[in-house]
Amino acid sequence: MFSEKLLEKFQENPVVVVLTGAGISAESGVPTFRGEDGLWKKFKPEELANFDAFIRNPEIVWEWYRYRQEIVRNIEPNPGHYALAELERMFPDFYLITQNVDGLHFRAGSQNPIELHGNIMRNRCLQCNKYFMEVDLQKEPVIPKCTECGGILRPDVVWFGEQLPQQALINAEKAINEANIFFSVGTSALVQPAASMPFWAKSSGAYLVEINIMETLLTPYVDEYLSGKSGEILPELIKQIKKT
Ligand code: NAD
Ligand code: ZN
Repeated sequence: MFSEKLLEKFQENPVVVVLTGAGISAESGVPTFRGEDGLWKKFKPEELANFDAFIRNPEIVWEWYRYRQEIVRNIEPNPGHYALAELERMFPDFYLITQNVDGLHFRAGSQNPIELHGNIMRNRCLQCNKYFMEVDLQKEPVIPKCTECGGILRPDVVWFGEQLPQQALINAEKAINEANIFFSVGTSALVQPAASMPFWAKSSGAYLVEINIMETLLTPYVDEYLSGKSGEILPELIKQIKKT
């Protein structure tokens, strides 16, 4: 399944950078946006995940986030997440960049995932910027309020049209510049700037590997395409690395 070349690269103390997308969490039961189960009450994510929609109709946007927070609260990391946490323990120069907001990498033991799009379990006051982890949604009114200033809380995720967290982006770029091996895992490679990251890595000399159940726009450009579920391929990769 894996080329000799890839397995050899792991023997050379490489800088390993992994970019993950919704696909790595699919086996945990988190719906992807572009899959069939991505729709909620006939809304497209683009229609709900933006600031204008939130200001116009915070009830419906909060209802959607409550639904998604509830999903995340009730699921567990899968073998793909655990394998990446193990890779991090095996290689001192390992960086994990994720577009996911579900926090499952952290729960699987990854120490410092770079969260490009925030975290759905964290909330932030529109008025005073104070952060709140997991608001008690059973007790709160539909639109949770800040206990400090009474402002409206929003989920601390990056919405369409918003800037990515500056520091996350800086950390990601730094890692990518040094990458010897770069993995794109379970992402449709459509959302910027994550979609460009494999190309940055390749132009700074990294060996590019993609893991996905389907080919993507990135596939023609990778050095190695591994077709299948990340929860099966990643644990197998670790086995093979340990053997060689
Ligand atoms: P996407 O939904 O556009 O693409 C998911 C990709 O994963 C697809 O290419 C699909 O073929 C692949 N895939 C599905 N199951 C897989 C599996 N078991 N193993 C390997 N690959 C698999 O997701 P995206 O590229 O991450 O972009 C969507 C945006 O939506 C992101 O910005 C993200 O923040 C957000 N989002 C996050 C979550 C989450 O946190 N879990 C869930 C949905 C959407
Ligand atoms: Zn406040």
